[in-house]
Amino acid sequence: MKGVGPRTGERLQHLGIRKVQDLLFHLPHRYIDRTRLVPIGSLRSGDSALCQGTIELIQMPAGRRRSLLCRISDGTGAITLRFFHFTRAQQAGLKQGMCLRCWGQIRRVNHALEMVHPEYRRVDADEDVHLEQTLTPVYPLTQGVSQFKLRNLTGQALETMSRDNTGVAELLPDRILQQFSTFNLDQALRFVHRPPRDADLDSLTDGHHPAQQRLVFEELLAHHLSLRLIRKTVQARASFVIGSKADGRIRTFLDNLPFELTGAQKRVLGEIRRDMQKPAPMLRLVQGDVGSGKTVVAAIAALLVIRSGYQVALMAPTEILADQHYFNIRQWFSPIGIPVSLLTGKQSRNEKDDVLAQLNSARPMVVVGTHALFQDQVAFGNVGLIIIDEQHRFGVDQRLALLEKGMEKTRQPHQLIMTATPIPRTLAMTLFADLDISVIDQLPPGRRPIKTTVISNEKREEVIERIHEVCKQGRQAYWVCTLIENSETLQLQAAEDIQKHLARQLADLTVGLIHGRMKNADKETVMEHFKAGNTDLLVATTVIEVGVDVANASLMIIENAERLGLSQLHQLRGRVGRGSQASDCVLLYQTPLSDNARVRLNRMRETNDGFAIAQSDLELRGPGEILGTRQTGLPELHIADFVRDAHLIPKVRQAADIILSQSPERVNKLVSRWLSTKIDFGKV
Ligand code: ADP
Ligand code: MG
Repeated sequence: MKGVGPRTGERLQHLGIRKVQDLLFHLPHRYIDRTRLVPIGSLRSGDSALCQGTIELIQMPAGRRRSLLCRISDGTGAITLRFFHFTRAQQAGLKQGMCLRCWGQIRRVNHALEMVHPEYRRVDADEDVHLEQTLTPVYPLTQGVSQFKLRNLTGQALETMSRDNTGVAELLPDRILQQFSTFNLDQALRFVHRPPRDADLDSLTDGHHPAQQRLVFEELLAHHLSLRLIRKTVQARASFVIGSKADGRIRTFLDNLPFELTGAQKRVLGEIRRDMQKPAPMLRLVQGDVGSGKTVVAAIAALLVIRSGYQVALMAPTEILADQHYFNIRQWFSPIGIPVSLLTGKQSRNEKDDVLAQLNSARPMVVVGTHALFQDQVAFGNVGLIIIDEQHRFGVDQRLALLEKGMEKTRQPHQLIMTATPIPRTLAMTLFADLDISVIDQLPPGRRPIKTTVISNEKREEVIERIHEVCKQGRQAYWVCTLIENSETLQLQAAEDIQKHLARQLADLTVGLIHGRMKNADKETVMEHFKAGNTDLLVATTVIEVGVDVANASLMIIENAERLGLSQLHQLRGRVGRGSQASDCVLLYQTPLSDNARVRLNRMRETNDGFAIAQSDLELRGPGEILGTRQTGLPELHIADFVRDAHLIPKVRQAADIILSQSPERVNKLVSRWLSTKIDFGKV
């Protein structure tokens, strides 16, 4: 292509552009209208517009900041162009009576219209040629590649497409095209890169234009197909066939439980059993609100696998949670003679080797540890089931890594993934199309809803008084300090200060402290004290976000709650309300509150339903914020938007079924056209 040397070529790669065709799939994220001149008299503040007028006045007013002002008028009105940075030559080039055409954003200052640093050029007064013939696309950029350059390159790519008549192959079968869209791919790409001047700019800006939606549909389809491919590949592998009849040990376990399983727990267990009976690997995601009892479901699944003679690996996202699972599961499994081991970073080399040797011995057992440890060190020789707990940040990349890991031997372990953050249904079906989804949609009976109050920091003293009352009744409380900045040191300092302060004010209570910087052994000690009831109030950073389960804790204070997103607040709040007593959550906020923060805090007060909260969070912040784009491997999209375009998902699934059954040869082509991070299906 003209104008692409090695340097530009390299830079374009940062945008995922390697071939001419990739340029066509690098899509504008907005448009500007330079197709018409707007009379100066009808310019509105806030708009970006193209206008033209004769220079009436040039000034360099004395003031705090050196600036060059240039007033132009076109008979309908006048506007001032303001430059803070300008060269001598530029200044000399502007003369009274000269005609300028300018593009920029209009603002109103002291009743006069102004453009700061507009793009401009000199024109003849009666010139009306050279107006743009199409709306001007604005592309996502990378360092060293300008908007101008990208417009030029996409222009060349579009020309190549028409000249060679090679075009971009239409990969959607006719049947889908007819059902779905009036645009074919070629038309849609042309339209989106260079919309005609009469195109509806509003709908293009919102991403609702049919030409865009045609591409959105194909992009979502490509993502969906990539996950379905993974699933298909994995399901073609052999797994461990797990018998589903309960034996004596399982019956004893169930008898020993101090509660009955809920209907929802039983239903989900049924789904898991049916999956594991089959010779293909289970790939199942269990969603359940905080406190819905996912752990016991996982434990029973583990028992079934152990009974069939295989091992189980349970992975937790944090060491605290790994410790807690180890503790609980050992308590449950020891009486029935099933060995449980712990594998964590803080163990000595010898201890680790010991656990690894047990695993190698292929003896049926459970190993609990953090995710990281399993990826590094463990050979999954006889592991029949991998359970991944509370993993709300678990993207395709990690899922693939784990699947590869599982394939060290000839059989692929079953996988059970349990999410901490309930994800709205359509989004889950998009992001986890490779997984089957079960939902535990019922809380154990007798739980009383957590009462949430929103209180200004000015009334802090009253809150501290309340802690005193609650703890004097023999219950326990958490005080969570939130991130001030992304600085662990500052956060830690704040938590330490608050702990000291509270310990002084609540002199007859024991006030503990736990934070992310502590040594693991210390964290463990602190949690043990709290669990045993020796600590009344635990000051914590957000390290306790997931999974911590202390039933006697019934009061949760979250400081600076306005800083957190809804899902995180819900997770934190879920640390209380685990026993049968009424629990409270106090959201302390710092004034002034932004509108968005006010909406969030009110939402927390209104509902305890994790799914409803997740839906609100999605609407307020979008999926990237909730799931953390990088951590989840939430795919980077060219044009689709998981929230805006969620209504397309059912159609996307239908279309995927059609393609997979009728045109499987097109699947890989579609996927590689849209996905820049390549999934290596050969390896899966
Ligand atoms: P989560 O789904 O958030 O991981 P847990 O598995 O930690 O929830 O369970 C929360 C608490 O509820 C635990 O103390 C657990 O023992 C208890 N629990 C689980 N299932 C039931 C049930 N069916 N009836 C009563 N309590 C239950
Ligand atoms: Mg849990």
